[in-house]
Amino acid sequence: MTCGRVMRLLPGYLDGALPDSLGPEGHARIGSHLETCPSCRRELERHRRIQRMVSLTARPAPPPELGVRIRAAVSSARALGGFGGRLRRSKDRLELMLENIFEPLALPATGGIVVALFVFALVYQVLGAGMPVGAATPDSPTNLLQPARLEALAGFQMSELEEMTRTGGQHPLLVEAMVDAGGQAVSYRVISSQLDENTQRELEQVLFFSRFRPQMSFGRPTSGGRVILSFSQIRVRG
Ligand SMILES: [Zn+2]
Repeated sequence: MTCGRVMRLLPGYLDGALPDSLGPEGHARIGSHLETCPSCRRELERHRRIQRMVSLTARPAPPPELGVRIRAAVSSARALGGFGGRLRRSKDRLELMLENIFEPLALPATGGIVVALFVFALVYQVLGAGMPVGAATPDSPTNLLQPARLEALAGFQMSELEEMTRTGGQHPLLVEAMVDAGGQAVSYRVISSQLDENTQRELEQVLFFSRFRPQMSFGRPTSGGRVILSFSQIRVRG
């Protein structure tokens, strides 16, 4: 047995863990070589010293919070994993998204009672029986006459109108506007209530700058169209 081979086998010789290929007499053969070879004995002594030093070194203790951290990591991995976890996470994301979308809209409603003025236009057929809105009755066949309608309401600051609809109770302010062939309101009539001068001026401005589609007779715009505008308000309680 050569010195090189013996030196490679020395750690196993010391631990009693020699390769099986050496056979049952391997330990004895290395032992007899060591008796005759001083350099291999020195190498054996070096290995023994190393072993002693390693055994004297204090084993590093794990940090005291390691167990807690491992348990926390395991439980959070369990919570995140699986289909249920993914579902929960996407639900959270959806809730956050909806919150971001609706939060700006929700702000006004949380400020108490918010009064918003909603304006909508009603179009009615002036051709039906019994509507006392003017003496002129069109000569044309009724089924080919299309009524005028509101296309765009002028966006004015309507403080007086707003104030009126706010204090006016449940009744909306009803205004009937007469529309000429050019889609312009040429006159109007307040149906529901009396207006003061300021409110009337605002109403006239709104009507003048609003766009209407004129009444159509046989596909041609004609004057004499009538549009009913209803100014009402909706209270939102936050
Ligand atoms: Zn040797």
